[in-house]
Amino acid sequence: MTLSIEDPHMAHTPGRAELQTRFSAFKARGLAIDMTRGKPCAAQVALSDPMLDMPGVGGHTTAEGFDARNYYGSALGLLEARTLFATMLGAPPEQVAIANNSSLALMHDMVVYALLHGVLDGSQPWRAGPVKFLCPVPGYDRHFAICEAYGIEMVPVPMTGSGPDMAVVEALVRDPQVRGMWCVPMYSNPTGETYSPDVVERLARMKTGAPDFRLFWDNAYAVHHLTDTEHTLPNILERCSLAGHANRPLVFGSMSKITFAGGGLGLFASSPSNIRWYARHAGVRSIGPDKLNQLRHVRLLRDHAGLRAHMTKHRAIIAPKFALVEASLQRRIGGRGVATWSRPDGGYFVSLQVQDGCAARVVALARELGIALVPAGRTYPLGLDPRDSNLRLAPTFPELADIEAAMEGICLSILLASTEGRGA
Ligand code: PMP
Repeated sequence: MTLSIEDPHMAHTPGRAELQTRFSAFKARGLAIDMTRGKPCAAQVALSDPMLDMPGVGGHTTAEGFDARNYYGSALGLLEARTLFATMLGAPPEQVAIANNSSLALMHDMVVYALLHGVLDGSQPWRAGPVKFLCPVPGYDRHFAICEAYGIEMVPVPMTGSGPDMAVVEALVRDPQVRGMWCVPMYSNPTGETYSPDVVERLARMKTGAPDFRLFWDNAYAVHHLTDTEHTLPNILERCSLAGHANRPLVFGSMSKITFAGGGLGLFASSPSNIRWYARHAGVRSIGPDKLNQLRHVRLLRDHAGLRAHMTKHRAIIAPKFALVEASLQRRIGGRGVATWSRPDGGYFVSLQVQDGCAARVVALARELGIALVPAGRTYPLGLDPRDSNLRLAPTFPELADIEAAMEGICLSILLASTEGRGA
């Protein structure tokens, strides 16, 4: 392990008394730093500021010649927006739907449509019996919250570093009550891992007990690279179609971490039949999505190359923050046996694995130091991490100086917690 001369305290393994002294000194700094949610920082959202003046007075006519100020006769969105995002979603424009500001809302609504009306290939609404979802863990807390809200039983599946453990998945999906599975296939939230081609192929081919089983393929970080090692993913729509399960994947995308968080677009791609299924239900819920916001996105990004160029600007802003987290963890706790962590090539999070039984304590100690971390367990269904060991760091929002301070406090908290005899 390399030790930096910037941090002379760490040149030896400090004892509990020394850690407590340093803890008190740190506390006296009275910091208030938020490392909880994966929010873009001000410089990131500013990249899309030109959209604030779009489409502009007189700019309301779409490429197809419609007036975007008025009702538009499709629940699926403007063709030019569907075309813009087709490459990112891996589907032809006809199989893409553009929704309003939240992909999570889109996923929520699909779950509700399935519960109330059922999906294609099924004979009954899901609510007719018990419903279970497979939940790769650690995972995205808001996926789990949807299941919790609607009484869907969550079955955790361990992640392996290249996606979920497929032997476990293949065994569990034989249960006909298992109707869905949450997947964040690229730069997964929070572990940063990308599903391997083998995992994707097995998900496409696997035999499910339920004929109407659905993969909720939340590809929220599809273009969010942090390094030159750009991960790629087999096309799930094509793989499933070739395996004879064309309706299995529901593919989602989000503009929240591309343009304006919570003010972007929710994106959906699926088989032609699933798109019709969606349009039928979405058309009951709303006359149609906000076309002006779609126009803004088209005019800012133009095409897939424009989208990629925009993401390069995001990378320039946030990659140094991830590098700082990595350097700080390495320098302060590397090689001490108190934690391991992810080194993501993309996405928004660093996943930190502390000693069993220590995660909640680390969060509590960090809170005393003025550092807000997401509550321990949040990355597990019902907030229950059976080992109490996973923590999620979100370094995009704070400034570099705050990240440096936060990492010092977090590492101090980890070291202190590990001296408390909580390790299992
Ligand atoms: N999916 C994942 C995996 C996320 O991390 C997030 C948070 N940005 C979302 C969905 C929510 O996106 P949206 O703002 O489009 O609802």
